[in-house]
Amino acid sequence: MQAKLLEGGPVAEAILRDVRQRVSALSQRRRPIGLATVLVGSDRASAGYVRKKHEACEAVGMVSHHHHVPEGATQAELLEVVDRLNRDAAVDGYLVQHPVPPGFDLNQALLSMDPDKDADGLHPVNLGRLVLQEPGPIPATPAGIRAMLLHYGVDISGRRVVIVGRGPTLGRPLSLLLSAKQPGGNAAVTVVHSAVPDLSDYTRQADVVIAAVGKPGIVVPDMLRPGAVVINGGISWKGRKLLPDVAESCAERASWITPRLGGVGVTTVAMLLRNAVALAERRVDSDDLRAG
Ligand code: NAP
Repeated sequence: MQAKLLEGGPVAEAILRDVRQRVSALSQRRRPIGLATVLVGSDRASAGYVRKKHEACEAVGMVSHHHHVPEGATQAELLEVVDRLNRDAAVDGYLVQHPVPPGFDLNQALLSMDPDKDADGLHPVNLGRLVLQEPGPIPATPAGIRAMLLHYGVDISGRRVVIVGRGPTLGRPLSLLLSAKQPGGNAAVTVVHSAVPDLSDYTRQADVVIAAVGKPGIVVPDMLRPGAVVINGGISWKGRKLLPDVAESCAERASWITPRLGGVGVTTVAMLLRNAVALAERRVDSDDLRAG
């Protein structure tokens, strides 16, 4: 069996088409939509992700702003940038690129953000909205994975989904999203992690396996039920080479699998921009209401 590919490109294109139209409609009602990024330190991969986000902004007609907090800066300086962005009327949404270098506290930065400008959907208020299924920005990578399942017609309702990894940006919010009673959700979700002695005990039972760890090749064909859907969310770098959590040989056992490149990453960027335009729409609507 050779798996069909869950390409991120067509999913992202569909999302970005909608975003472009909404950006254009909003820009006619007022000034352009602004998304800002904050890069802490100088990690090459993080700088690359930030660059891609700016390119995507340009492609949909959003204005992007960049703030760099150098490695030698303090947490207080990072919080000053966050405070400035909270007050900057030209910024509708922003994100602090993660992970941040040792010595910086990402959670404190997230807590200091205006939740209504949280383009990554990682502020506790927005994670709470996700739990309550209230509207709000949804963490971009989980949202991109759900969009991918919907786009390719992979129905997970009532099916067994195993997520490997329980990190706050990916595995944990993804488990909320995919178990929620809504389209693209409704699955029986199990989250496994480093305390689980044998991941295969769980993954072999799964209709869908999603890797969210950051350890190359942690998911191998032996761990899969033939015909499982396999999604790679976890990545690490060896020099300039991107290493996925899912071993490439899994394609011989899966029915659907994400490609090594052009999978979850591109849908993540598209979802970030969708969050940003939704935040901007909400701001414009509430400004209009206030203005009468
Ligand atoms: P994280 O917070 O470090 O979480 C990693 C998770 O993996 C933890 O829950 C950890 O378990 C688990 N883990 C570690 N070793 C394990 C093992 N041997 N067996 C089972 N579980 C193990 O990281 P994150 O922020 O959630 O990100 C996870 C991965 O997704 C990273 O590779 C990151 O680069 C990637 N990511 C990709 C995108 C994208 O756009 N493609 C976006 C965000 C994140 P414990 O909790 O027990 O320590």
